[in-house]
Amino acid sequence: MGAGNTASTVRIVALGGLGEIGLNLMVLECAGRALVVDCGVMFPEERLLGNGVYIPELSWLAESGLAFDAVVLTHAHEDHIGALPRLLRRFPKVPVYGTELTLAFARRRVEDAGTAVAADFRSIAPGHPFKTGPFEIEPIRVTHSTPESVALAIRTPAGTIVHTGDFKIDEAPVDGERFDTARFAALGEEGVRLLLSDSTNVEREGRSGSESSLKPILRSLVARTRKRFFLSAFSSHLHRIRQVTEVSREMGRRVVPLGRRMAESVRLGMETGQLSFPPGTFIEPEEAEFLEPHRVTYLASGSQGEPLSALARLAADSHPRLHVEPGDTVVLSSRFIPGNERMINTLVNHLYKLGAEVIYGAVAPVHVSGHASRDELAEMIRLTRPQLFVPIHGEYRHLSRHLALAIEAGIPERNCFLLEDGDSLVLTASDAYRGRPATAGRVLFEGGELEDAALIDERKTLAHGGTIVAVLAVSMSTGTIIAGPDLVSRGLVSGDGTSAHMRAAREELRARLAALEPPLRAGDMRLKDEVVRTLRRYFIDAVGKRPFVIPHVMEVP
Ligand SMILES: [Zn+2]
Repeated sequence: MGAGNTASTVRIVALGGLGEIGLNLMVLECAGRALVVDCGVMFPEERLLGNGVYIPELSWLAESGLAFDAVVLTHAHEDHIGALPRLLRRFPKVPVYGTELTLAFARRRVEDAGTAVAADFRSIAPGHPFKTGPFEIEPIRVTHSTPESVALAIRTPAGTIVHTGDFKIDEAPVDGERFDTARFAALGEEGVRLLLSDSTNVEREGRSGSESSLKPILRSLVARTRKRFFLSAFSSHLHRIRQVTEVSREMGRRVVPLGRRMAESVRLGMETGQLSFPPGTFIEPEEAEFLEPHRVTYLASGSQGEPLSALARLAADSHPRLHVEPGDTVVLSSRFIPGNERMINTLVNHLYKLGAEVIYGAVAPVHVSGHASRDELAEMIRLTRPQLFVPIHGEYRHLSRHLALAIEAGIPERNCFLLEDGDSLVLTASDAYRGRPATAGRVLFEGGELEDAALIDERKTLAHGGTIVAVLAVSMSTGTIIAGPDLVSRGLVSGDGTSAHMRAAREELRARLAALEPPLRAGDMRLKDEVVRTLRRYFIDAVGKRPFVIPHVMEVP
């Protein structure tokens, strides 16, 4: 046992969110006990991966031998709570802490997943610290795109660690719950050992602006809409749902949540008091059919172009009961997440074709980010004055820029650590250094099942490189090739398979196979390897594609 194992040594281990936007999961350990902060998912950019989501690789948690005292959730977003059902399946007894709204969403996630555990949910609130294992945790109010978001001040034997969660500094929050500047400043006075801070918006200069700045814009858009008004936003964005509901009420419109997720968010918002409107404000789609179009606002999920969403169905004019028409306005009130642009653009084009006016970020300011821009990030560093700094929540370039920002803000370079998923940082009373790495990664989860990495690779290869089947027959008596190879391809070269490339590839393969020593057998790995290698090499060189090669060898008497 070295100095690194004393009871006052704390290790933080990043299992997700440091190298991507999403999958957030951080472990803090001390003397064999541990705490998990957030447990999120990430949505794949490539739709060919189906409707699956990525979750963090969780095997290390079990292998670490640590005793887990708590999972603490900072807020209700999927990239912070979505993988909770998987974690609870492995650790059914671990208590889950979060604010009331966060727990309402988390509970729903666990129920949806059918996780047969009686999860131990414990409600927390800003200003009420609680103890778990060797840690004392104080939730601190921050502003973000979902209500009741908190940062965590975690008192450890190695000093106070501040984990910001996701935040921005909104001077005029929709729910009136302000970012607790004074508390962060007080912690700074007291001494913060380590700051872990959200890097998502570090590429943006200035400040992100207040969510409430959208209200006049939404009001003018609703006012000039002759028929139905559609707002598409993330279903957890209760601030935005609240604002569009307020302006809709002012103009005598009822509000209809479309789709299961949106209806569920509105219901949870009403139950927790985040959406407190008189009865009759929100109505069912069936009820709206009896109202004139200018009396209805619809809330639709699918602002990222998700193919099965309400908005996608409206754009494709395949919604069972609703048809977008001239006089309608559709507002896409969210950022276009990189990777989704093409699908969103298609959606916008279709909505225009149906005659709607479509409003999105490029034509009007209909979205405000929930993450801190550079000036707010610098303010967080100024307030907390940490001794050590680790940027979190971002791709490598975000982490790297945030690190540079911290150095600019006066934190010595040797005290700034750029950690990636799987990295760890050890804090002793007097020292800080990189610790042993942990197994980290992501696994695809679809329809309740884990998909293995090989299957995902296979789908990617099929989509990007096409597929080619080589059929040949070997004689059981002589062990030589007596028919083929014949090649059949899909999605690789155009035409009926008689192209020059197919002919050349077959000749090349024939020559290669002729060089193999007989006897050849159907199950012969030499034969299969040669087929795969030769065809793959040929098509990479000739057309720059890496096809999925299937050798099909028959044995004939
Ligand atoms: Zn968030």
